[in-house]
Amino acid sequence: MSNNDFREVPDDEITDVSGEDKKESDSDYEDICYMCRRPEHVAGKMIHMPGGISICHDCMQKTFDTMGNYAPGSFFPGGGFTGLDPDDSHSTNNSNYNGIPLFNLNDIASFLSTTPGVPENQKLKKKKKKKDEDGEEKEAPALDIKNIPPPHKIKAKLDEYIVGQDKAKKIMSVAVYNHYKRVVESENLLDNDDDVEIEKSNILMLGPTGSGKTYMVKTLAKLLDVPLAITDATSLTEAGYIGDDIESVVSKLLAAADNDVEKAEKGIIFIDEIDKLAKKNSATNRDINGESVQQGMLKLLEGAEVEVPVGASSKNAMVPMTIVDTSNILFICGGAFPRLTDVIKERLKKSSSIGFVSDLGDEYDDDENILDKVTSEDLRKFGFIPEFIGRLPVICTLQPLSKEMLVKILTEPKNAIIKQYQKLLSLDEVKLNFETEALDYIAEEAQKRKLGARALRSIIEEFMNDIMYEIPKDPNIGEVTITKDYIEGKGSPKITMRSSDVVPKLAVNE
Ligand code: ADP
Repeated sequence: MSNNDFREVPDDEITDVSGEDKKESDSDYEDICYMCRRPEHVAGKMIHMPGGISICHDCMQKTFDTMGNYAPGSFFPGGGFTGLDPDDSHSTNNSNYNGIPLFNLNDIASFLSTTPGVPENQKLKKKKKKKDEDGEEKEAPALDIKNIPPPHKIKAKLDEYIVGQDKAKKIMSVAVYNHYKRVVESENLLDNDDDVEIEKSNILMLGPTGSGKTYMVKTLAKLLDVPLAITDATSLTEAGYIGDDIESVVSKLLAAADNDVEKAEKGIIFIDEIDKLAKKNSATNRDINGESVQQGMLKLLEGAEVEVPVGASSKNAMVPMTIVDTSNILFICGGAFPRLTDVIKERLKKSSSIGFVSDLGDEYDDDENILDKVTSEDLRKFGFIPEFIGRLPVICTLQPLSKEMLVKILTEPKNAIIKQYQKLLSLDEVKLNFETEALDYIAEEAQKRKLGARALRSIIEEFMNDIMYEIPKDPNIGEVTITKDYIEGKGSPKITMRSSDVVPKLAVNE
């Protein structure tokens, strides 16, 4: 037996990243140690195995140490039996040299390659390299103050998509502008002499269902090009109980940011149905999804470093973890707060009954915009703890949608529902029109359903299905006009043929 017994491992089978493995090191995602599950920026450079498996140097060393503890003569993963004599001709597999156990990395690799590697969605995106003095490989700041449009520009952009809600749009534009100014400021804190630290301004959005709360947040996130995670507060429970624990909102954001921690740390988290977290007045049961979730959210809202699983919503031994700092994450909590109006009315009536204007109490009963008058005292009475309210300093209320607003929502925004149908039919070279009375009728119906703008789509879908089915059947149809009678089921749409000689014969006419 000679030194030739060392089996040469081909380069393409095992490669150290510190070497020339450009393919891997250029990738945007970090490797995660298959054994200890630590990402590369924590565990250091990885050794790559076939089958997409990476192992950190520590784990590899530990493996060798453990194997090295075997006495000569024992069994090794390579299948080798360590003979005592280097010239021992009986030794079939030569993994021992002069009594020193030798390992064949290839054998370990082939063992590992039969087991699955780290799933793609559990890989962390690599941190981008910091700029250096010479200006080489400079990463553009994710949010440059110069690139954050001033509030009026943010609002103007929102106007393209969102109808009405002017006050809410203004408050949101200013809050978002200030928030990202603060983010940039905190990044440059080192060069800053004054001690003024801008406080975080998370937002509480109140407004009836379907008034555009989620839509506004989604639009903002898109305009600012920041990742957004939307969660429902009803699914959150105190850690340890069935349901999503509070920190899962951060891991959702991390997923929305393609597992890029830096990007996630500047994202937006929208927690819907926040009113469901109001304290439940039960003396017997523990309030696991009300007050205790509020308590649990305090540190997230304020800014904390949380350890979150990568590529999964719950922590378990098989999932890699990473740390996300929430100090620059903008939290927006939204809800319809139906019972809150009673609390506000009660307060207003009480205050108006003291003094000369005691007879004015009833005027609040019909006030649709009563939510506008909310105070933090009302929110406390509603069931929020003061610390929670204090961490959502910006309050923005959306109004219920009037009939006129609903008609505008149908036709005006950039991707208005009717524009979408018009585009679909234009692909068949058919023009789609709606009579004004038809639009009014749809808006009235939507108001009756009390689902806000959300009802519009379902009403339109109900009758447009027939149109979308029948129109492409007849290539002679050039134009369709939806009438109020047709929507009510009393008549037919007006159909214009491309050539006047052809008479339309369609099911939608019946
Ligand atoms: P909620 O207030 O319950 O979160 P959403 O934001 O989900 O309501 O609204 C539902 C849908 O209604 C949105 O996807 C959007 O298309 C439409 N919508 C609601 N309000 C408006 C509005 N003010 N302008 C334009 N579209 C709106």
